[in-house]
Amino acid sequence: MVSFGHTAVGVVIGVTAYHYLGQGNLAEGLLITGTVGVVSHYLMDAIPHGHFYLPKNYGIEIVPIIIFDLFLSIAIFLGIIYSKAGLGPIFFYTMFGIGGAQLPDVLEGLIHLKILKNKGLVKLENNLHNGLHWNSRNSEVLLLGSRDIWQLFVILAAIFLISF
Ligand SMILES: [Zn+2]
Ligand SMILES: [Zn+2]
Repeated sequence: MVSFGHTAVGVVIGVTAYHYLGQGNLAEGLLITGTVGVVSHYLMDAIPHGHFYLPKNYGIEIVPIIIFDLFLSIAIFLGIIYSKAGLGPIFFYTMFGIGGAQLPDVLEGLIHLKILKNKGLVKLENNLHNGLHWNSRNSEVLLLGSRDIWQLFVILAAIFLISF
């Protein structure tokens, strides 16, 4: 799934969690939100979807894509929340929702860059992540296409949710 989609799901989780848990203990609420975010990543990856790139182009094209897909998506959503609520609890709930929703791919990236060693708990998580990814068995990655209309829908839902 594209990072923009995972970010959007993280926003929906963060804002929703804030509405239900926002009055309670902040640390507890953020922990729950982050955990739900991580689970959402595996679920979203399990649904048929495409990506912005194919693995053979990974090395060359990945940097501008990551800047657009990961950093820009996070900056846009957190920027909107910040402009409405400042650094209030909803900002942190949204941040933890996004953080959880991005964590498996961030770990994947750190392994790819050899910053993290693929062993122990990291390897366990990576196997789970790749095992649940819908097309990982034939190691075929598909480009963004008509099957991805739902990713666009998730992004629109997140924008709709925070535009009030
Ligand atoms: Zn994918
Ligand atoms: Zn993933």
